[in-house]
Amino acid sequence: RAHLDRIEAVDGEVAAFLHVSSDALDVAAAIDERRAAGEDLGPLAGIPLAVKDVLVTTDMPSTSGSRILEGYMSPFDATVVAKSRAAGLIPIGKTNMDEFAMGSSTEHSAYGPTHNPWDLDRIPGGSGGGSAAAVAAFEAPLALGSDTGGSIRQPAHVTGTVGVKPTYGGVSRYGAIALASSLDQVGPVTRTVLDAGLLHDVIGGHDPFDSTSLRDEWPSMAAAAREGASGGSLAGLRVGVVSQLNGDGFQAGVRRRYEEALALLERNGAELVEVSAPHFEYAIAAYYLILPAEASSNLAKFDSVRFGMRVTPPGGGTVEQVMSATREAGFGPEVKRRIILGTYALSAGYYDAYYGSAQKVRTLIQRDFEQAFTSVDVLVSPSAPTTAFRLGEKLDDPLAMYLNDIATIPANLAGVPAMSVPIGLAPEDGLPVGLQIMAPLREDARLYRAGAALE
Ligand code: GLN
Repeated sequence: RAHLDRIEAVDGEVAAFLHVSSDALDVAAAIDERRAAGEDLGPLAGIPLAVKDVLVTTDMPSTSGSRILEGYMSPFDATVVAKSRAAGLIPIGKTNMDEFAMGSSTEHSAYGPTHNPWDLDRIPGGSGGGSAAAVAAFEAPLALGSDTGGSIRQPAHVTGTVGVKPTYGGVSRYGAIALASSLDQVGPVTRTVLDAGLLHDVIGGHDPFDSTSLRDEWPSMAAAAREGASGGSLAGLRVGVVSQLNGDGFQAGVRRRYEEALALLERNGAELVEVSAPHFEYAIAAYYLILPAEASSNLAKFDSVRFGMRVTPPGGGTVEQVMSATREAGFGPEVKRRIILGTYALSAGYYDAYYGSAQKVRTLIQRDFEQAFTSVDVLVSPSAPTTAFRLGEKLDDPLAMYLNDIATIPANLAGVPAMSVPIGLAPEDGLPVGLQIMAPLREDARLYRAGAALE
């Protein structure tokens, strides 16, 4: 009730939600009954959960921020949503996002932008700005996001929340409307590292419906967070400071908080080691070939027949004309831009030069991580180059928008887990700054141990 009241009070201005559940209170009552009947539901039972609209749900529409899916009702729940329901969490609403998760500001949503609760004239990050804003504005204590190039971590950075991109394959992608399948990963957005760990424990683990899902037994992320919070816990932890992402050229206040965070890590017993990742500078270039290529393929299913809207040209039309009119009306400009980029990169004759080269760079970036992790346990960097920028500031400059993800994209290309944890406010504008922590594949628990030590 308190969260529904809060949404009622502030969401007119924040616009974090595309849809608010109409039966959340009934679900809450049913959970009370299950608990009264003696069922052990775990620590998150009865807690509201905001769900990024990229995740399909049976009880609320799932649009992925696109006009083409307006009102779309899924016949099944995404696995992360099903697992959350089973643990007694209450999906309280669907959150706004850049269309099909393409963007860093949530301004590419077909349903209008979300506003950063710290300053309503500024962006809440993207693509999962709705989830981060909902958590930062106390409209929901926990949220789910998806991260293909930074869409959990960058919104966390600009809203002072905690965001985690798990190891690729650690959390099911089943029912997450695909952007770039080899990069996408679902994860938590919360106010504390422990909250993220508790939610990660609920949503993680093998899913037979996702062919890339790992079969590992995972340690408890909540337990790792509790260990990290217990003080002195970083003794002996070797922290690699990535020289290519050391804050050069980043906003002064971002850099200052970053340097203080490094000092705090050291005071907690960590050993700082400078490491080089020479191929990180090519990450954005490689990403903007691989992502559009995969996206153009994934978005081919929005063909006016199988899903969503259908626009028939005046007087009828052929199948192709209907498909074309539907995609013309249903997709926004950023989505069209990326489909064109992707189909071009995959065209016969260009495939090796573009897509093939990008995949080779991806391998080199993976090797940079492997090499770095032979001498350190985790890597750190600022989560993004600046604090929240103003709405509209980068909307007409796609390249400026893309450059926001300079720090977050390498982890997606390599599949490694990464977290953004708040490290204070930039003195010049009073806006939140995040530290990114990255760990080797399958070592998500290290993020929680290190992240909790910084809170
Ligand atoms: N901002 C990046 C992009 O536009 C990342 C998006 C994401 O992680 N979904 O592709």
